[in-house]
Amino acid sequence: MITTSFGGATLALDVGGTKMAAGVVSAGHRLVEYAVTPTPVGADAETLYDTAVFVLNAALSANSLPVAALGIGCGGPMAWPLGDVSPLNIPAWRDFPLRDRLAEEFGLPTRIHNDAICLTIGEHLMGAGQGQDNILGMVVSTGVGGGLIADGRLVHGSSGNAGHIGHVVVDPTGPICECGGRGCLEAIARGPALVDWARLNGWEPAGSGDAVELAGAARAGDPVATAAFRRCGTAVGTAIASSAALLDLQSVSIGGGISHAADLILPSLYDAFRRHAGLRFVQRCRIVLASPDAGLIGAAGLFLDQYWPEADAPSPPPVTRLPEPAGKHPRILLQ
Ligand SMILES: [Zn+2]
Repeated sequence: MITTSFGGATLALDVGGTKMAAGVVSAGHRLVEYAVTPTPVGADAETLYDTAVFVLNAALSANSLPVAALGIGCGGPMAWPLGDVSPLNIPAWRDFPLRDRLAEEFGLPTRIHNDAICLTIGEHLMGAGQGQDNILGMVVSTGVGGGLIADGRLVHGSSGNAGHIGHVVVDPTGPICECGGRGCLEAIARGPALVDWARLNGWEPAGSGDAVELAGAARAGDPVATAAFRRCGTAVGTAIASSAALLDLQSVSIGGGISHAADLILPSLYDAFRRHAGLRFVQRCRIVLASPDAGLIGAAGLFLDQYWPEADAPSPPPVTRLPEPAGKHPRILLQ
């Protein structure tokens, strides 16, 4: 069995635009504690940071394993490996020193990477990508991210940002993207983009007007809502076919909010993939939903030598003190 460099359990954090999840991952890559809380909407940088600390303490509150390190997955882009984050779907954090702040807060060696890269590591360790050398992991949620393992090695890229499949162009005449480009996968397939497209095409929400309500409308037979999810699936399937041709992939694991609408998206996703996958080696690529634990297991996996380059980021010195359990917090904070 592969063990962490520290031989102990790892505290893990997954920062998303909708929720923040934290957990404790054992040396055997099992998620043994879990807590989740909503990402506060429209909050300032410090409130977001406090939420991250809160959910980490919640995960620690029931934990009995000695924790030796902290691994973080966060939406991109970021200055890596230093960990100043600027997630497109969390506007209040621009060059926010998330890694340094949490390292100081918890007194643990701390590593950070893109959340989709963490999901990819989790899938490689414990999910559909186990035993495979060429895989793509995707997070499709309020943003769209990706991570790559090629020839058995995690691909970092020249600035740590390799795998940004969300900004692969799938429709050159498509909508403007948050990144400033046009027709990126993210501009079409992220949850809020589905809602925007549905509204433009006449869908009138009765409630929250978010992607969850849109999914409900699609399941109730609303044709515009149904078409919005189909359009999303087509865009994701097209991007996967291109990626599989470029990288000779064995499998693609998809996680994030999209997994709650898999019934609405996967048929058109597979259709688009089959349409665009002409070559036999491309057709072989398997597309599956990622394990729900993959993001946190992969964030902890950043402490495995195989997923981290030798030139390490400056880390705080290891300490013997363990973070104080925060017993007053409930472990599961919502949903
Ligand atoms: Zn873009």
